[in-house]
Amino acid sequence: MPITKCSNCSAQALYVREYEGAGFCSKCFREAIEDRFRRTVIKHKMLEYNDNIAVAVSGGKDSLTLLNLLVKLEGRFPRSKLTAISVDEGIDGYRDEALELARAACAKLGVSHVTVSYRELFGTTTDEIARMKLGQTPCAYCGVLRRKAINKAAAMVGATKIATAHNLDDEVQTILLNMLHGDPMRIVRSGPILRDPRGKFLPRVKPLCEIPEKEIVLYAYLTGTEFQSIACPHGHEALRNDIRSFLNQMEVKHPGSKFTLLRSAERLRTMMSSDLPLAELQECAKCGDPTPHGLCEACMMLEAIAT
Ligand code: SF4
Ligand code: ZN
Ligand code: ZN
Repeated sequence: MPITKCSNCSAQALYVREYEGAGFCSKCFREAIEDRFRRTVIKHKMLEYNDNIAVAVSGGKDSLTLLNLLVKLEGRFPRSKLTAISVDEGIDGYRDEALELARAACAKLGVSHVTVSYRELFGTTTDEIARMKLGQTPCAYCGVLRRKAINKAAAMVGATKIATAHNLDDEVQTILLNMLHGDPMRIVRSGPILRDPRGKFLPRVKPLCEIPEKEIVLYAYLTGTEFQSIACPHGHEALRNDIRSFLNQMEVKHPGSKFTLLRSAERLRTMMSSDLPLAELQECAKCGDPTPHGLCEACMMLEAIAT
């Protein structure tokens, strides 16, 4: 029989979690998301009472939901601090609107906000890189440069940790992508919390990693969060898009498939993470950041672009 009532309070159900066989009214759904967020943070020991958290905020549904949830949680950690960090990759007709939404959300929530741009940091933009028609997709460059830009901005604000808005769908897509790229050890090296045992990189946490994308969209609507809904004009990662469709079909036919994949990756990490060799790090010859090679990945890319 289809579920029509909230499993918690018996009001009319607004949403059904097929993977749990449970219905939710609007209020109980919001509480369930906030509860899962808190549990993920606690289970993976993502935050400490005096953290200075740099939150990567793009202006999309995931990052604005992450910011909202962290602000709620911060009330329980009175000595912690949040700073929102946005990156302007230089994408005409796309990024400006998102940055405006990020600014407005931060002002409303009383969170300080810092924006850094590829133009200032790297002397180029994603639009310019896309026009060069290099061997890889613009996303391949944009993703590496964004990681570096966020690291730089986090260091600027004295952060102790970086929080990013990867949701369950992002996580399981990446797990399958790594398998299809023949790089299973990357699955072991990644995860909901990344700590560098050498202490050279700031820890990164992903507190939304156990929340499905469609639940984030619903939560954002129910909380009146204004977010950017148009897609980046350069975002055509063909393999990721195929994996997304495949996983969505699997989830409809076999509810819970995405969580099963996430748990499988967690088990792999538990079994294998201690076997991972740690690369020796040196300073990048160009920017001084720690890297296992002579040049860090971003500087290598920027050199390739310049030639
Ligand atoms: Fe950059 Fe690709 Fe994301 Fe667009 S979709 S912002 S090009 S990583
Ligand atoms: Zn209810
Ligand atoms: Zn470098």
